[in-house]
Amino acid sequence: MSTRILTAIIAFALHAPFALAQNVPLPDIGSSAGEILSPEQEHQYGARMLYEMRRVDLVLEDALIADYVHALGYRLVALSERPEQQFTFFVVRSDDINAFAAPGGFVGLNVGLMHTAESEAEVAAVLAHEVAHVTQRHLVRAYESMQKATLPIALAMLGAVLAARNSSGDGTEAALIGGMGLLQQQAINFTRHNEYEADRVGIFTLAKAGFDPEAMAGFFGRMGRATRANSTGEVPEFLRTHPVTAARITEAKNRVEAIRRDPPAVPEPAANEARFRLMRERAHVLTASEPAKLVGVYRNQLRHAEAAQAPALRYGLAIALLRSGQAKAAGNELDTLLASAPTEIAFLLPRAQARRDAGDAEGALKTLQALAELAPDHRAVQLALADALNAVGGKANGEQAMAALRPLLARNAADPSTQAAFARACELAGEEARALEAHAEVALYTGRPYDAMEQLKRLLERPDVDYYQRARVEARIEELKPYMAELERQRIRREDQDR
Ligand SMILES: [Zn+2]
Repeated sequence: MSTRILTAIIAFALHAPFALAQNVPLPDIGSSAGEILSPEQEHQYGARMLYEMRRVDLVLEDALIADYVHALGYRLVALSERPEQQFTFFVVRSDDINAFAAPGGFVGLNVGLMHTAESEAEVAAVLAHEVAHVTQRHLVRAYESMQKATLPIALAMLGAVLAARNSSGDGTEAALIGGMGLLQQQAINFTRHNEYEADRVGIFTLAKAGFDPEAMAGFFGRMGRATRANSTGEVPEFLRTHPVTAARITEAKNRVEAIRRDPPAVPEPAANEARFRLMRERAHVLTASEPAKLVGVYRNQLRHAEAAQAPALRYGLAIALLRSGQAKAAGNELDTLLASAPTEIAFLLPRAQARRDAGDAEGALKTLQALAELAPDHRAVQLALADALNAVGGKANGEQAMAALRPLLARNAADPSTQAAFARACELAGEEARALEAHAEVALYTGRPYDAMEQLKRLLERPDVDYYQRARVEARIEELKPYMAELERQRIRREDQDR
């Protein structure tokens, strides 16, 4: 299938229903937003978007960065208008300066936006704006005013594109197009009123959480100036959906003045600039297509850096070296960093990785085992330990890795990296049936729900499934049935639409 046809399909899938929704007046089905999409349906739609994005490799799966953004997001949610609402924050492998919210409290933050931000407060400002879109129920209203079926149709069409890709072998291109389509699809057009409300509510949340409320106006203003100065005329995606006008900046500034006159009680200064800078460089390097090129860039920047910027730049250099196969040099840079921050986990984990890459897998494992005892609740540490155990291999190591991962699964089973590591550990430990169950979960969370269901059903036919596992798998199948039924229903609706 040619790129052009794929693009056309995506364009149809994404834009035709939008156009339709705008032109055809819909019957007024109900008055309350809640009646159109139930909270469970909202969550399903958002989750499905996340799974599909993982399927085309658009989600940055890195425990350190994911947990950092999760913590930052939840610091805002806790002080938002609906602190009880469930949120899922994730980082998107895209250079576009953008962030977006989907139904069910799913909030995506692009690496491009993180990389452009000059402070943690600027990222927090954008997240607070997106959180406000969710807490003010703008999404549900936007979906109401479009067509309820738009998102499922777009996702189903994307599924068709991906299936075509598998048969033609023209992999990368289709995945890229599919990914871009998914991102474009997030550009739900909120009303002007919605945007002002998200600014107004978001900026207050930002201030309550102890961030500089001026960051919102500052970031929007800087993005606006950057766009005007940019000779290619390319407008960052966030600005396309969030046009920065002089009025908007003035309003944000006025709100800052109002907040200053009557400041909310702030628990403590929230911003952690040092951590933000480390995670910003880490995300940049982990998503770079040619990390080796960044080695020279960072070396050059380090030469002219101010003292406050140097550790993050050196960290970026170390990760770039690690990613381009220069483990020994990476280790040296990390040792320099560790000399002034010996307990920094963001340094210790790649240090162990460098040791492993340099051929000392046992030494790396010992380091991680010691670290895991000091930080038993640290997800990134336990995941790294499990990976190291799996890499060395053997039954005993597999069992240890299972033990390290079990508490993580108990806290969050919906993480494909943890499930994949658990599956590998089970295989090493000789627990094949348990491994297959974890593989099914990986399939579900990476956008292959039919695969997942098939694997779970086949599992029940195996003689080595014990009573407890059987009960668990049967319960899981029952749990997934409504979700599968919803997928089927949406397929039918899509066929109706095509006719
Ligand atoms: Zn917005």
